[in-house]
Amino acid sequence: MKVNGKRVVSRLEEIYQCGKKEDGTFTRMAFSAEDVKGRKLFASWAEALGMTCRIDEAGNLIARMEGQDEKLPAILMGSHLDTVPDGGKYDGVLGCVGGLEICETFKEEGYVPRHPIEVIVFTDEEGFRFGKGLTGSSAICGQDPKVSDSEADIYGEERGKVMESYGITSGDMLKAAKDPSSVHCFIELHVEQGARLYKTDTSVGVVSSIAGVNRYDVVVTGEANHAGSTAMADRKDALVAAAGFINKIPEITAEYGNEFTVATVGTIKVTPHSVNVIPGTCAFSLEIRDQDDKVMSLIEEKLRGFLEEICKKYGVTHTFVPTSFHEPAPMSEWVKENVEKAVKELGIDYCTIPSGAFHDSLIMTSVFPTGMIFVPSEKGISHSRYEYTKDEDIENGCNVLLQTVLNVDR
Ligand SMILES: [Zn+2]
Repeated sequence: MKVNGKRVVSRLEEIYQCGKKEDGTFTRMAFSAEDVKGRKLFASWAEALGMTCRIDEAGNLIARMEGQDEKLPAILMGSHLDTVPDGGKYDGVLGCVGGLEICETFKEEGYVPRHPIEVIVFTDEEGFRFGKGLTGSSAICGQDPKVSDSEADIYGEERGKVMESYGITSGDMLKAAKDPSSVHCFIELHVEQGARLYKTDTSVGVVSSIAGVNRYDVVVTGEANHAGSTAMADRKDALVAAAGFINKIPEITAEYGNEFTVATVGTIKVTPHSVNVIPGTCAFSLEIRDQDDKVMSLIEEKLRGFLEEICKKYGVTHTFVPTSFHEPAPMSEWVKENVEKAVKELGIDYCTIPSGAFHDSLIMTSVFPTGMIFVPSEKGISHSRYEYTKDEDIENGCNVLLQTVLNVDR
């Protein structure tokens, strides 16, 4: 039994077209008209297969196909259809369209799995609109997505209003929580969004874990003063100290981390932010990611130590406040083994890799046995219109998903 790779590729294109906007980009922001259009198209394909579609209290679109034994827990697949602005064709969409392709292949082959199958399109995975993502998967896992109808998005629109397009409200979201006993496992097919598979010319990645992420707010405080009349020796320049710290990050991660350790300063703000004033404060974000929380703690410790040192050197002070913490999430051993078995059975070249990016699987793995399959992103590019995955890799990824479902169904 094999999937129809051409059908998958053409459906990725069809969903992409749903995001066509007047500004020339293709964007399916969560809850937008474009997003709803894509979901409707997806639901129409599922319904044509005789699957039942429903939208749960958190807005997750769930397409279900019954198996031989209705008492058995369901095999879940899926991902998300929402995109970042000017996003690509593959991120998220592949896991949804791929999941549906497994059901369509079963139907065409007259194969009825033992377990029921559900393909889930999760709500607002990307999260750029309201500044927090993984909304639908959090609710399915019974974790409070911490949303309110009155909060505003980056355009000033209220959540309660924009979520009308899904017919949901914030207060009901947790009702979407799935009983763990109703789920056999969850398998997400996704593009890698990094360059490991591409660089090694490997068709499929068996995901070992999703990196943990620690975030911090750092503020360095010096003294704002006249940029013309304050001698260099008399300055307490917050930005100079912060710059020295930021510059040291690659060295510290290289020395105390591993090949997967990353640390980033992604935002920075100085006050008073004037061309003729020495920066009095410099506030910036810091993020550390790794597969091992011990490594993350060590990097934090070393970075804090260096920050202390450099602030002393420049006569400035600092605060270092943790803002969020996500532990590394290893995939379930037995699901991962079934993915690996599938790749071997199909004779496809593969390697075992961690994921540096967040996915719905990060949340799903906290409650349900979860596995992930990666296919290469050309040049490692993602969250971009230049995102590209070769047709043959898409077909391979979908066939691995199919074979994995067959394996876990037995
Ligand atoms: Zn994604």
